[in-house]
Amino acid sequence: MAIITIIGAGMAGLAAARRLDSAGHTVVVLDKGRGVGGRLATRRIGAARLDHGAQFFTVRSPEFADLVEAAIAEGVVHEWCRGFASDDGHPRYRCSAGMTDLAKWMAIGLDVTTGERVTDLRHHPADAYLVTAPVPQALDLLAASDVQLDPDLAGRLREVTYDPTIAVLATLDGPSAIPAPGAVQDADATFSFVADNAAKGITTTPSVTLHAGPELSRMRWDDDPDAVLADLLEAGRRWVGPARVLEAQLKKWRYATPLNPLAESSVVASAEPLVVLGGDAYGGPKVEGAFRSGRHAAEALLAALGG
Ligand SMILES: Cc1cc2nc3c(=O)[nH]c(=O)nc-3n(C[C@H](O)[C@H](O)[C@H](O)COP(=O)(O)OP(=O)(O)OC[C@H]3O[C@@H](n4cnc5c(N)ncnc54)[C@H](O)[C@@H]3O)c2cc1C
Repeated sequence: MAIITIIGAGMAGLAAARRLDSAGHTVVVLDKGRGVGGRLATRRIGAARLDHGAQFFTVRSPEFADLVEAAIAEGVVHEWCRGFASDDGHPRYRCSAGMTDLAKWMAIGLDVTTGERVTDLRHHPADAYLVTAPVPQALDLLAASDVQLDPDLAGRLREVTYDPTIAVLATLDGPSAIPAPGAVQDADATFSFVADNAAKGITTTPSVTLHAGPELSRMRWDDDPDAVLADLLEAGRRWVGPARVLEAQLKKWRYATPLNPLAESSVVASAEPLVVLGGDAYGGPKVEGAFRSGRHAAEALLAALGG
């Protein structure tokens, strides 16, 4: 049995870890974050819980449906709604107390270490590696680890770009003005998504998450965070409504959404050492895409390791 080190305890890394662990390999998952989940991210402000990365997820493939059904059966995942502006019949899912719940549940029984930034794969001896960091970070790590990439693959990876997202998280002294079921997609010229975390059902404390659209996020990226927060709160008054903002924070996602994912669901970056790359830049820019990529990467590793 092989020792496999996975960089990243987001959806892709955890999906792969579960598959490789069930195949009997020794799997070690390392993440630089304080907790698991990556862009499945929930923050506490006082008594409130606010999702600030992925807001919901959808299910299309049977494999992801199996996982989600098991999570629903254990009370970790719930259907939120079937559309925001209108009912289109397709379930949107949320977690009990925020998106990180799904990652925490998936990590049960796995060897996961958080707060560990991997700077060189050679510091973590293993038979194989899966790197699920966003592509620019993965390329930096491979370079620092002296992993040689095929020039064509390296060129294609360097072309993968991401939309950033600046998120505002705010607790309120009363309900927000965001209509049922608690979110608006493509909300207005400033915000690509606004959500009421209490209406969504992940907290009882009134609180909103406001995601600035990609153009504005890019434009304001380097500006003074206090000024950006103040401007975005002003722009979001319509969604906050008459409630008073009690506490507000800014969260910046540099690599929020891959704009031009690769066609492959994962890639073997190197045979010696065996390094596979996965994540939503390979499976598609969504929670389910990251899951699919993680599973695909696990199969690629199993094939390369001989079963
Ligand atoms: C603001 C926002 C809104 C979104 N909304 C939705 C949505 O509504 N629906 C949807 O389906 N998807 C949404 N997404 C996309 C979804 O969150 C992602 O597609 C998915 O979670 C990506 O999972 P991943 O495992 O590929 O990457 P990540 O979750 O980014 O995981 C990669 C992990 O690698 C770790 N890492 C990186 N470098 C290192 C290192 N050197 N050492 C150790 N660890 C490292 C990181 O800490 C991270 O935890 C949204 C994303 C954002 C940011």
